Amino acid sequence: MRNGEKWTVQTLARALRGGKCSARELTLACLKRIEACEPEVHAFLTVTREKALTAADRIDARLAAGEELPLLAGIPMAIKDNICTKGVRTTCASRMLENFIPPYDADAAERLHQAGAVLLGKLNMDEFAMGSDTGTSAFGPTANPLDVSRVPGGSSGGSAAAVAAGEAVFALGSDTGGSVRQPAALCGVVGLRPTYGRISRYGLTGFAPSLDQIGLVTRDVPDCAAVLAAVAGFDPRDATSSRVPVDDYLTGIGEGVRGMRAALVRESLEESSPGVRRELLRAAARLETLGARVDELSLPFLRDMLPAYHILSSAEASSNLARFDGIRYGFSATDAADWQERIRESRSRGFGREVKRRILLGTFVLTKEQYGPCYEKARRLKGKTLASLRTALSYYDFLLLPTSPEVAWKREEKRDPVAMYRSDLFVVPASIAGLPALSVPFGMDQGLPVGMQLVGRAFGEKELFRAAHALEEGKA
Ligand code: GLN
Repeated sequence: MRNGEKWTVQTLARALRGGKCSARELTLACLKRIEACEPEVHAFLTVTREKALTAADRIDARLAAGEELPLLAGIPMAIKDNICTKGVRTTCASRMLENFIPPYDADAAERLHQAGAVLLGKLNMDEFAMGSDTGTSAFGPTANPLDVSRVPGGSSGGSAAAVAAGEAVFALGSDTGGSVRQPAALCGVVGLRPTYGRISRYGLTGFAPSLDQIGLVTRDVPDCAAVLAAVAGFDPRDATSSRVPVDDYLTGIGEGVRGMRAALVRESLEESSPGVRRELLRAAARLETLGARVDELSLPFLRDMLPAYHILSSAEASSNLARFDGIRYGFSATDAADWQERIRESRSRGFGREVKRRILLGTFVLTKEQYGPCYEKARRLKGKTLASLRTALSYYDFLLLPTSPEVAWKREEKRDPVAMYRSDLFVVPASIAGLPALSVPFGMDQGLPVGMQLVGRAFGEKELFRAAHALEEGKA
């Protein structure tokens, strides 16, 4: 491949089939990039060099034999370290699982493997996906490759940084409350949280299962459509997996937004930094120029969604993470005097500060006294969110709001956890409602990328791709 040519799934797949490069060459190019970037970026926790080269050679042999292979065959990619990969260490960026080697693949990993995509390794993240800057990893933070003094966002910061740095062509992440979209926005790449149930959660380590979804990080919108087509689909091993047929997401992706109706969320104008607000208004104007109709719409509950999200997700995390007791799974304090001390010590030493904070908060909101005023109230808010978003989306094709209220910040700027939580203000509503949401780079502020977020109807990913592609291309 020539330097400067955009390395996307589409261009590389064409180059592979045209004999312009081999899967081995592509894999070696990514490995070289990993070597060059990792000392500063630290997006990877594990690099599977030999396995990757073997897999690439296998694809080359099949292509040479004239086999027709899926689009993703031979494309180098990487996977967040909370998604199980058979025989490859999967740590959740926690001491608790430092040495865990899964005996099975997650459904999404298995589908990528079957499609012939080449796994380069496993990506850094906030510990157990709890965080917004990839700073709570037990193995050290990831930096934003666009400016290494800044955060890449989180919790899938490794996924976004690897794609932005050119270390991988695409990556899998997970999005419970924005963890794919927010880092994608901060690193200037595309991030998708699909509809809840669209991608199987089998093999994804649970944080808050009613909200968890596997998501995608790619260089552009058509790549996102191509990767979703490969990993989506019904899986009997996940009880919440959907039987809705998987669309052909690429067909018609260039048709533009003429006739579409979009709602610009008023509260997001008020809560954004001046630079992000300016880009939001520019995105709305761009959509109108391209033939969409854009109205302003108020979603007054938006600000309440953040505390509701933390109550619901922490409650689920507290019960979900109870399995890490030093007896059945993970790190074990074998020097403990008795089993009670063993549980206490394993959890004290195995989990980091943020994970402990969430477990404590979750346990608190589930106590008899707090259940009504906290947990029940948050559940009611979830119901209200669902109802009002459904009403809005019965008229509008998608909601438009920024992904993050501000661009990537310097690591030392946010020490207070609540200041950090605030960066998720615009991403949690779609999570709570289980709706698909996509972040697409649009414009810059202070020399850093801004991400626009499009929230669509359940299983309306195809429309989201079409609208986001129009924004990224600027064409009608
Ligand atoms: N940043 C959010 C949190 O800290 C979302 C995390 C996620 O989606 N995994 O909980």
